[in-house]
Amino acid sequence: MDAAIQHTHSFGYKPSHDMMTCLSDVRLVRNHAYMNGKWVDGSDFHPVENPATNQPIGYITKLSAEQIDQAIEAADRAFQPWRQFSAEQRADYLMRWYQSILDAKNDLAHLMVMEQGKTLAEALGEVEYGASFVRWFAEEARRSYGKTIPSHIPDAQLSTIREPIGVVGLITPWNFPNAMITRKAAAALAIGCTVVIKPASDTPFSALALVELADRCGFPAGVFNIVTGDAAMISKQLCSSPKVKALSFTGSTKVGKLLLKQAADTVKKCSMELGGNAPFIVLDDMNVDQAAKAAVDAKFQTSGQDCLAANRIFVPRRHYGEFLASFTQHMSRIVVGNGLDPNVTLGPLISLQAAQHAEDLVQDALDKGARLISRYQGHLPGPNYYPPTLLADVTSKMKVYLEENFCPVAGVLAYDDLDEAIKMGNETEYGLAAYVYGHNIHDIYRCMRGLEFGMVSVNSVKMTGHSIPFGGVKQSGLGREGSCYGFDEFSEIKYCCLGELPTVSGC
Ligand code: NAP
Repeated sequence: MDAAIQHTHSFGYKPSHDMMTCLSDVRLVRNHAYMNGKWVDGSDFHPVENPATNQPIGYITKLSAEQIDQAIEAADRAFQPWRQFSAEQRADYLMRWYQSILDAKNDLAHLMVMEQGKTLAEALGEVEYGASFVRWFAEEARRSYGKTIPSHIPDAQLSTIREPIGVVGLITPWNFPNAMITRKAAAALAIGCTVVIKPASDTPFSALALVELADRCGFPAGVFNIVTGDAAMISKQLCSSPKVKALSFTGSTKVGKLLLKQAADTVKKCSMELGGNAPFIVLDDMNVDQAAKAAVDAKFQTSGQDCLAANRIFVPRRHYGEFLASFTQHMSRIVVGNGLDPNVTLGPLISLQAAQHAEDLVQDALDKGARLISRYQGHLPGPNYYPPTLLADVTSKMKVYLEENFCPVAGVLAYDDLDEAIKMGNETEYGLAAYVYGHNIHDIYRCMRGLEFGMVSVNSVKMTGHSIPFGGVKQSGLGREGSCYGFDEFSEIKYCCLGELPTVSGC
């Protein structure tokens, strides 16, 4: 092992053979935490498994409570100097980071496949999507304008300025281990905040590689910090520290609620990107085959482990049989396997528990009267894999309808009346995204207005991107990420009233 790699990997272990052979730059594989511009070890470590093989691919360090405090302190010390930089200076750092992510995109994608399980094409797409936020916010930094306000106070000048909020805690999930970090961190850094990132324990290597690249770009010490270890302990410290002024979380609604409670004591600004349970409504005039193909695409991305996954598919009764046949046909093209194989289009689930959960959802639906229409018949290479499954006659009594199912199980039901379909689509605590497929503009408007979701996509599976305000309503979250609104979560509007200047004698 060369000296550089030995230095990178503490605890005397070697990363997996796959990792060493797939990456052209093995120094991207980091197993330390990073704070105040230095890589740091905790006193303990825990393994990270490849969900495709159930083999460990490496170990990451577990920091102590004192070390988490040190990371927060470092971010706090770095805040004032960083905010004093001009927007252009901060943008220059971000543009260097952006370019280094693109230059390393193949390595980052391979790393992601090995720890997350998604396919190489999906991983490459995510790395590019993630990088696009860095460029977007680098460009937006110089446009973080304030306003002047027509004054109601005689001879006063009234204005607002947008100021960075301070140190921010960023907590991210395993299903998008790159983009959920860049979407937050780029906005926070561009506006002048410093960050302490806590990545998901199942997928830390994508996050640590992003930080290794940031380190190479020379960000000042303390601006960028990443901490790994016990989730409950780290999150509690980020939530309770008065030095952390804002918390941005992406993850489950359950954990989001917990963090909101923990952050209440310090009245922290919180943005929450939480779960989803998207309806997919096919309108009566839609080409059935096109709608079925789109529904397959909207359901099975990232093996169904996507907050935007189309979970509940509503089809006009007169097209029901044809739709199920068409969906089955498109589903039959899915190839399940290890995401590193370029022919594979659907990877494993993140864990054995996730696969067991999928089975539980299907059993519950079948027990309550759903029909099993189709199920992947090919070989499943390991215990974390679940066969893509199509269920018909799903009802609102079934878990597969009620819960964010996060697995490759599609539930379809017939409807007779569009208002009924919209009402059922809204019949969930979630409100992240909804899909509509059809032509009739009147019906499309009824859906766009009637669906209680933060994002409604008509005739397009792809709806995300750096320029759109991503976020949900109801229990899907608070706030928006990306777009011209993305700075709102990491800044405050300061109002300044400049009264008439006192006359200075002699002037
Ligand atoms: P999760 O279990 O809520 O975990 C998210 C993060 O919270 C991880 O870093 C996790 O750390 C941490 N965490 C877990 N338990 C915690 C606790 N008791 N106290 C404090 N922190 C805790 O979510 P996930 O399973 O990783 O991700 C899937 C969820 O994310 C889904 O609900 C999905 O819809 C949602 N999501 C939403 C969006 C969006 O933009 N709206 C995007 C992607 C995903 P450890 O990993 O160390 O446990």
